[in-house]
Amino acid sequence: MNSAAARPPLRPLDEALAELLGHARALGEFESVATFEADGRVLAQDLRSELQVPAHDNSSMDGYAVRSAEVGQAAAEGRALPVSQRIPAGTAALPLAPGTVARIFTGAPVPEGADAIVMQEDTETSGEQQVRFRRTPAAGQWIRRSGEDVRRGATVLHAGERLGPAALGLAASIGMDRLEVARRPRVALFSTGDELVMPGAVPPSAMPPGAIYNSNRFFLRALLLRLGCTVTDFGIVPDRRDATVEALRSAADGHDLILTSGGVSVGEEDHLRPAVQQLGSIALWQIAMKPGKPFAYGSIGSAPARCHVIGLPGNPVSSFVTFVLLVRPVLLALQGARGEPARTMLPAHFDWPRPDRRREFLRVRRDGEGGLALFPNQSSGVLTSAVWADGLVDVPAGQTIQRGQLVPFLSFAELLA
Ligand code: AMP
Ligand code: MG
Repeated sequence: MNSAAARPPLRPLDEALAELLGHARALGEFESVATFEADGRVLAQDLRSELQVPAHDNSSMDGYAVRSAEVGQAAAEGRALPVSQRIPAGTAALPLAPGTVARIFTGAPVPEGADAIVMQEDTETSGEQQVRFRRTPAAGQWIRRSGEDVRRGATVLHAGERLGPAALGLAASIGMDRLEVARRPRVALFSTGDELVMPGAVPPSAMPPGAIYNSNRFFLRALLLRLGCTVTDFGIVPDRRDATVEALRSAADGHDLILTSGGVSVGEEDHLRPAVQQLGSIALWQIAMKPGKPFAYGSIGSAPARCHVIGLPGNPVSSFVTFVLLVRPVLLALQGARGEPARTMLPAHFDWPRPDRRREFLRVRRDGEGGLALFPNQSSGVLTSAVWADGLVDVPAGQTIQRGQLVPFLSFAELLA
């Protein structure tokens, strides 16, 4: 009997992703966190500024605040000008007395009446309180204008933006010490496979025949944490239907997502799909991509207590690639953010002569000559390829690549952030 013939066709990746995002509604729950703790979180509110940044016109140099016309005249006549005040950063300035200049330092407010800063390197001090200038300064030079960074009333960051270090600084610059962010998705993580052994449980010299170390658990946990999730680790679940059902049942309670790896193919040791079907339903299975075909999505329970279930392939590279292309957008969507990665067209510095029926994602690296080098072994079990690579090339189904051809590159710098 050929059961394969009865199976539905593999789902195109874009269609699968759209379907996943249709299921992954934003959790819609928020919390207030210290701005210090908000790196990587998704903002839940628009941030409007109540002040101008900078608040005042200020100097971008150490030097002298001047009236440019007066300086021009004094320079022409070889005359020095008196210094009437000293303005360090953090102090308030008095209006600039006519016929004088003010000693000023970087970040200090420009006194009323001054229209330029002359950097100290372009001056000569003569005596205690006299300065000589060589030429007329351009009006406005070395002045940072009030509001040139942020105008009062402007929205500096929007709800749904993922906060990075620069955004935290910008929020702080408008006085925000706490931010309203989406709550962390709660993810239950487990691995399936009787062959799996945790590093540390058995030394390499004593590994039994057929055993392998559980590598997926390590990178999946790290990827989840980077995306702002809390992770409950359910360890390794044995390759049995009852054990898989039990693990799913207890994980479904109190988690937004159960993420598993392995046991989702077509073999009789693959229990994940029937186990999910026993407790809930499977909406999606098998994607026309390489690596990563045996990917499954389903859910247990109904909203608001619905728990999404994603079964990733067991092969480490398949697991890794499907995570960054399919799970990452889901986790961002649960937090109200979007996550389509940018594509850069770069020349392939390799040939890929054999077309595949599935869309392929090749592990590649920018080679320093503006192009992409290919990792020689593209097997879905070779995790070295994902460490060596700094991104993926997206090869459409049925296509080949010739050296020099421009190909779409997806950077790990973005996919792993
Ligand atoms: P499966 O989908 O369960 O048949 O697994 C496919 C391949 O991935 C097999 O060679 C497994 O041994 C391997 N594999 C499954 N889970 C893991 C894991 N957590 N770490 C490393 N390799 C795994
Ligand atoms: Mg297995």
